[in-house]
Amino acid sequence: MQYISTRNKEKAYSFSEVTLLGLAPDGGLFVPEEIPAIDDLEMESWKKLKYTELAVEIISIFASDIEKEKIKEIVDKSYKSFKNSSVAPIRKVDNFHILELFYGPTLSFKDYALQFLGNLLEFLLEERKLKVNIVGATSGDTGSAAIHSVKGKKNIAIFILYPNNRISRIQELQMTSVEDENVYCIAVDGTFDDCQRIVKEIFMDKEMKESYNLTAVNSINWARIAAQIVYYVYTCLKFDQNLIFSVPTGNFGNILAAYYAKMMTSKIERLILATNENDILYRFLTEGDYSVKKAIPTISPAMDIQIASNFERYIFYLYERDDSKVRESMEELAKTGKISFPHWAIEKARKDFIPGKAVESEIRETIKKIYEEHGYIIDPHTAAGVKALLEYMSKNDKSDIAFVSVATAHPAKFPEVIEETIGKFEVPEEIKCLRKKDTRKFILPNNTEAVKEFIRKHGII
Ligand SMILES: *Cc1c(COP(=O)(O)O)cnc(C)c1O
Repeated sequence: MQYISTRNKEKAYSFSEVTLLGLAPDGGLFVPEEIPAIDDLEMESWKKLKYTELAVEIISIFASDIEKEKIKEIVDKSYKSFKNSSVAPIRKVDNFHILELFYGPTLSFKDYALQFLGNLLEFLLEERKLKVNIVGATSGDTGSAAIHSVKGKKNIAIFILYPNNRISRIQELQMTSVEDENVYCIAVDGTFDDCQRIVKEIFMDKEMKESYNLTAVNSINWARIAAQIVYYVYTCLKFDQNLIFSVPTGNFGNILAAYYAKMMTSKIERLILATNENDILYRFLTEGDYSVKKAIPTISPAMDIQIASNFERYIFYLYERDDSKVRESMEELAKTGKISFPHWAIEKARKDFIPGKAVESEIRETIKKIYEEHGYIIDPHTAAGVKALLEYMSKNDKSDIAFVSVATAHPAKFPEVIEETIGKFEVPEEIKCLRKKDTRKFILPNNTEAVKEFIRKHGII
């Protein structure tokens, strides 16, 4: 399978190239040249596969330039340490289901994609005799998942910037307790915005970017999306009925994978897109208003995103794969901070997505309700999805549909919110023992030059 950019359909790339490049040279995002269809017969034959076996089948379709045996090796390695034998178990709660995606090393769904990407990168770099230095900024979750995906790997060093004393204790420990030599946690004396600005400025230094082969780790890498499609198809195989998924959304990465699964199979009816107060995608679907506002900090911080970078891929399909329309839209966004969509496009998007939104009080109410009624604790992000799902179910009688809400993080990642909301919360052992581990972090001033100097000293070339 070949890949093209959302901003230029002319040039084709292989899966390996797309993985190593991340972003297309024209600034667009890579998409598969055609969407592979999985027919009912094939779906039937996949029903008995284990998670990792299914992952090999699906990822091999997208990674046609890598031998299937190699994919199997990478997949097995990636999910070996997951703490549930089915990797992505489905739990019945009342008249709906929860897809639990928190059994990886950092307890969020990001591990499902990043563990795979880390091992894939290691393989591709070794094969090409290349080295990379990964540089990124995190406000909490992505950094730890990225660190755990490449720790101890050959030919890779990772530098993660975060605002000193401004992320949760657990989030910091999940990063700084990693002892591997190739991991550098940089606590910047500043805010998350400062960290992002510094990373941006480092990437603008062409000379440094090239000599250190600097790479970003972000959710736009196609290999991440490919790995995420797996758990949606896996869930579809567990049900005879058609499904509606509810997905807590920030950068539009997770729900985009669901959208691909929807295009590939006939099993997914629609997708509920749940946001928190940072509701640009909700406003787009309800009022056609796709305008960027200031990000508001919430109790579901991984969804505090205003520009959903993966949305560009959806725009490509919304406009029937018209790359010039995508270019126009992204130019308008860069210039004016908004994209205007014609009425028909919004109507079309509403056929794919059902808008949902949960503000802090609603998230807390939902955590409380699910705990009191079912003795099951959900995290604040998951609660946004469950709230949107329950609202939809209460208004629509669809007894022939299986409803699945995606749990994107383990509640233990947010013990303060859970405790405030339902009273006591017993932190699991694996989180508790984080507190006893040795930590390693480097505190640097809020200054791009200082961070550059640090990377020059520790980076691999
Ligand atoms: C990253 C994240 C999200 C948002 O996912 P996107 O792919 O960015 O839409 C939701 N919940 C949790 C816990 C996350 O870490």
